[in-house]
Amino acid sequence: MTDCLFCKIVAREIPADIILETERALAFRDINPQAPTHVLVVPKSHHKNAAALAQADDGLADDVLKACHDVALQEGVSDSGYRVVFNTGLGAGQTVFHVHAHVLGGRSLTWPPG
Ligand code: 5GP
Repeated sequence: MTDCLFCKIVAREIPADIILETERALAFRDINPQAPTHVLVVPKSHHKNAAALAQADDGLADDVLKACHDVALQEGVSDSGYRVVFNTGLGAGQTVFHVHAHVLGGRSLTWPPG
């Protein structure tokens, strides 16, 4: 999609701190981190939100989820605990409409989220 921020990061048209890449997913640090580890994991193909990702074919959602857990391992937060969040829709705080998982860790995380 031509006018999508995360498609532009995938295409390397906009710089990002990329920490992991697989055939179909990309992980890069959030520009405004909310925790010591705050990484966004996106499918390289454009899907607007988690609901659309869930309906994508070929196990793409699995690939994105596996990449999230590889990020947690790579960042050293898998033992201490981490959170994977898909804000889905305006009411949930989604601001970029290319589906992305937030992988948050490195500090204690409270529940419920705000
Ligand atoms: P959402 O609010 O849609 O769940 O999350 C969007 C996330 O994208 C936010 O946490 C925001 O900080 C991050 N973000 C927005 N613009 C950029 C950018 O240009 N580069 C990176 N790396 N992250 C961005």
